[in-house]
Amino acid sequence: MVEKSMGMLIDTSTCHGCKACQVACKEWNGLPMEQEIGLTGISYDNTGHLSDTNWRHVKFVELFSEDRSDSRWLFLSDSCKHCQLAGCMEVCPTNAIIRTEFDTVYIDQDTCIGCRYCITGCPFGVIEISHISGTAQKCTLCYDRLQVGQQPACAQACPTDCIQFGEVPQLMQLAEDREKLLKNMGYNKAQIYGKSDILNGLNVFYLLLEKPEVYGLPTNPQLPQKNMMKSYMFSIAGMVAAGVLALLAFRSKRMVSKPVDSDKDQSQVM
Ligand code: SF4
Ligand code: SF4
Repeated sequence: MVEKSMGMLIDTSTCHGCKACQVACKEWNGLPMEQEIGLTGISYDNTGHLSDTNWRHVKFVELFSEDRSDSRWLFLSDSCKHCQLAGCMEVCPTNAIIRTEFDTVYIDQDTCIGCRYCITGCPFGVIEISHISGTAQKCTLCYDRLQVGQQPACAQACPTDCIQFGEVPQLMQLAEDREKLLKNMGYNKAQIYGKSDILNGLNVFYLLLEKPEVYGLPTNPQLPQKNMMKSYMFSIAGMVAAGVLALLAFRSKRMVSKPVDSDKDQSQVM
C-alpha cells in the first residue's frame, strides 16, 4: 500500500555534468564497471546510455549556433522515471515489477524470469537484462535506503542539489516556482517534463531549459499496447513459421527414407 508518493526533481538548470550522481549510484548498488573504459565519441560521455550496469546516466547535449561560433552544453541526469502509468509493470507476466509503499516502481529480482517484456513496455528505454543474473535491471530509487529513512545515493552526492528528493507534490511546487524564476531570468523555454500529461505523472521528473526532444526525451510517451501488439505479432508469426518449417522438414524426411533392405542388413552384421 502506498504511504507517501516519493520522487525526485531533476533541475537541469543547476547540473554541471560532474557525474557524481552516476558514480554514487554505481557505488551504492554495487554495479560492475565496464569491461572497456573510454569516451564514446559523443561529447564527454563514457557510458552513452542507461543499462543493466548504469542505472543513472548523465547526458551531455552540445548545442551550436548555425555558424558554430557559439556553443553551450546542457546536462541531464537520467534514470527510471518511476511512472504513475508504468508500462514495464503493465506487461510483466510474473508480477515481478511492483509499486512500493513509496509509490516507486521496483523489480523483484527473485520473481523476474528475464523474459524481456518490460523492455518493450518502457517508453523511455530504461531497462536492460543483466548478463550476470539474467534478470531485468533499473534504478530502484534506492529502495533499501528509503526503507531506513535515507535519501537516494545520487541525491545525496549531487554537489549542486540539482537532484532534489522528497514528496512529489512538494517537489512539483518547487519546480513550478523555479520555472517562473528561470523565465523571469530570460530562459523562455524553461519547462517541467513529467506533470500529469505524461503517463499520469512521473515521480522522477525534470525541469528543462529546452524542449524535451533536445534532451532525447519523448514528447508523447505511450503505454506499451502498441509496441506489445507488434511484438506479439512477430512472436506469433515466428511460431507459425517455425511450425511450418518443422512440418516440411518432417515430410521431406519421410519421403526420402527407403524401406530397410533386410538381406543387406544381415550381411553387414555378419
Ligand atoms: S521509466 Fe520505464 S522502467 Fe521506469 S517505471 Fe517508467 S516504464 Fe517502468
Ligand atoms: S551530481 Fe548533480 S551536478 Fe553532478 S552530474 Fe549528477 S546531477 Fe549533475
